[in-house]
Amino acid sequence: MSKPRIALLGLGIMGAGMARRLLGGGFPLTVWNRNPAKSAVLAAEGAQAAATPREAAAGAEIIISMVADDAASRGVWLGANGALAGAAKGVVLIESSTLTVSWIMELAQAVAAHGSEFLDAPVTGSRIHAAGGELNFLVGGPAAALERARPALVVMSRSITHLGPVGSGAMIKLINNFVCGTQIAALAEALALIERSGLDRAQALAVLTEGAPGSPLVKTIAARMTAPDYTPNFLLRLMAKDLGYAIQEGGRRQLPLLTATAALGLFQQAVALGHGEKDMSAVVEPLRKK
Ligand code: NAP
Repeated sequence: MSKPRIALLGLGIMGAGMARRLLGGGFPLTVWNRNPAKSAVLAAEGAQAAATPREAAAGAEIIISMVADDAASRGVWLGANGALAGAAKGVVLIESSTLTVSWIMELAQAVAAHGSEFLDAPVTGSRIHAAGGELNFLVGGPAAALERARPALVVMSRSITHLGPVGSGAMIKLINNFVCGTQIAALAEALALIERSGLDRAQALAVLTEGAPGSPLVKTIAARMTAPDYTPNFLLRLMAKDLGYAIQEGGRRQLPLLTATAALGLFQQAVALGHGEKDMSAVVEPLRKK
């Protein structure tokens, strides 16, 4: 049986890796990216490049979006040249970007009115996991839609967790990332304090990374902060976005996320000082003695 055509919208750090996994898995693939230079690279590797999301969606049975934020997702799906305008009825639309639950619910309604199926399926894992097909999909939406999408998701992932109805994937993803953001912010302050304290930095950091606070994330980010190596794996400004979205969702449920709010302050300070396009580990830089 021939594999369904996939449209992938957004070829950033994550989308580019996902596109290559789909091509490697033998799926016919159409890609679109706002900056067409990135689509041209994938076209040279066997994908079809489309001029608009609408054109990419035409003829696809599964349409996946992997873009920066709510505003980008809105334009990609619902804009005049958006994917929904080009999609056939009855296809499966998947939003894999990290977005607010509020926007996901609005988008799900638009997709239902169109007569297609919708999944929110954000991911954990970063650049290397996207490139290596080792992402973890966190899925919300109908089980039947997930089964239709599963063969495509499998080639991009090491796990697929179905959390419940539409919005469940987006919710757990924001919770996951606000815990990551607070850990990174705490580590940044800890490292800055170590550097100002006269302690041996490597020895002091090893106490943290090899002890109770040494989560896989803390270990990875501590290495990047000390190198320092801010080659983007996850852009600092996108972590600020995720913390803001988590705070927004907490607020809607009368739960002020105080730790996320403190962490967001550090990330915003780093953005204001020009570190937004670097890896999120650069959040330590404004705290360092110059
Ligand atoms: P990225 O490298 O910055 O790529 C962002 C993508 O969104 C690019 O394709 C960009 O297009 C597109 N975009 C931005 N604004 C747009 C707009 N207004 N209209 C249309 N397209 C727009 O980011 P990424 O790391 O791939 O992240 C993509 C999503 O995955 C984000 O929601 C992020 O939070 C999430 N995520 C990232 C990671 C990670 O470790 N990197 C892990 C899990 C989830 P251009 O190329 O034209 O700028």
